[in-house]
Amino acid sequence: MDYYQAAKLRKEWKEKGNPPCSHSDREKERLNGSLTGDAVCTTCGHEAWIYKEKKAE
Ligand SMILES: [Zn+2]
Repeated sequence: MDYYQAAKLRKEWKEKGNPPCSHSDREKERLNGSLTGDAVCTTCGHEAWIYKEKKAE
């Protein structure tokens, strides 16, 4: 999923009142066609973690 599309989803999700989401459907995140190394939830746009061994917090 495109980074900007995910950002849009996140905004829309927030406008819906930020309901709970299990983030069960995730896609690799791309920015300008390149993988960012992160994944995003296709439902709410939340930045997920599944494709990374570890994520620096
Ligand atoms: Zn989600």
